[in-house]
Amino acid sequence: MTVDPVAIARDLVRCRSVTPEDGGALAYLQGVLAKAGFAVHRMTFAEPGTAPIENLFARIGSEKPNLVFAGHTDVVPPGDEAAWHHPPFAGEIAGDKLYGRGAVDMKGGIACFVAAAADYLAANGGKPKRGSISLLITGDEESVAVNGTIKLLQWAAERGEKFDHCVLGEPSNVEVLGDTIKAGRRGSLNGTLIVSGRQGHVAYPDRADNPIRGLVALITTLQAPLDDGSAQFAPSNLEFTSIDVGNPTVNLIPGEARARFNIRYNDHHSQTALKMLLERRAHDAAAGRVHYAFEWQPSNADVFITKPGPFTDLASAAIAEVTGRKPKLSTTGGTSDARFIKDYCPVLEFGLVGQTMHSVDECTSVTDLVTLTAVYRRIIEKYFG
Ligand SMILES: [Zn+2]
Repeated sequence: MTVDPVAIARDLVRCRSVTPEDGGALAYLQGVLAKAGFAVHRMTFAEPGTAPIENLFARIGSEKPNLVFAGHTDVVPPGDEAAWHHPPFAGEIAGDKLYGRGAVDMKGGIACFVAAAADYLAANGGKPKRGSISLLITGDEESVAVNGTIKLLQWAAERGEKFDHCVLGEPSNVEVLGDTIKAGRRGSLNGTLIVSGRQGHVAYPDRADNPIRGLVALITTLQAPLDDGSAQFAPSNLEFTSIDVGNPTVNLIPGEARARFNIRYNDHHSQTALKMLLERRAHDAAAGRVHYAFEWQPSNADVFITKPGPFTDLASAAIAEVTGRKPKLSTTGGTSDARFIKDYCPVLEFGLVGQTMHSVDECTSVTDLVTLTAVYRRIIEKYFG
């Protein structure tokens, strides 16, 4: 069975799957995978306060090793559709480009893996030479990510599914296909700093205690560098994202001031250690004179690293053989579902070129779709020997 990655990518782009909508994307994939010989399961996960989300698990083979591909069919909203030169859900091909929301992030990547797996299976009498191939596909990555990969992995574990290595098809490349594998991600932690003072008339500051003064002092302290980076990571960074007093009155000293911040942290820190470090810095800067408190939001985005070894070497070699480029192992960028998968098996991320993801006229080159399919095909071939 030959399967055209460009046709699959185009058909998937035509499904309007803005999270939490599925738009028919998973039913379409189910059809393609079943035809290629996969046993396909569909499940909807839900939780109070969140929209129910459709997910898909597919497997062919029952032996070890089990190579799993992970991805998401949901996409971010298109924004103002009139701003697009090619409608976001039309799947138009013009020249060497396939246009549409999700073309690179990451319906294109899914299409390439499905085509590569189908081609490999067809060349081997409809089943893997040895071992198994699985797919974990969710519709909940771009939003809150609570009814997606995290629950899909739990569901699979309860069925006794074991994964040996995972390729996540996020658009990992920066400039050109083959330049970057993501082998780890920074952690992310959100917090709010609240300074309380005493409200009063602005003409009588001695009778009030302006919390803005204290807040500014603490912000300065907290912005100091957190580390110098590590072998695989850039320096951690704390960035304030909002300062809020909410005071519409010109002659009033407010009673409270808040600042929100996000930290992207490397493998020098755990969340607990990071909180302690910042609490200590604030404590020292406050010197007993500023009354402050931290509010920390729960975070499921811990830092992790996939150490260079046989699996990253295998992927790098496959990429080099197909593209002629030696990819670098990177840990930059935001979080991804790899943060959940890493608890089950080593995971690396390799997909299309990310330049247009989440932007107007998102597109991938058709050539890249063909090349990425060849890379995945080579990875599968090498993996099963
Ligand atoms: Zn993505």
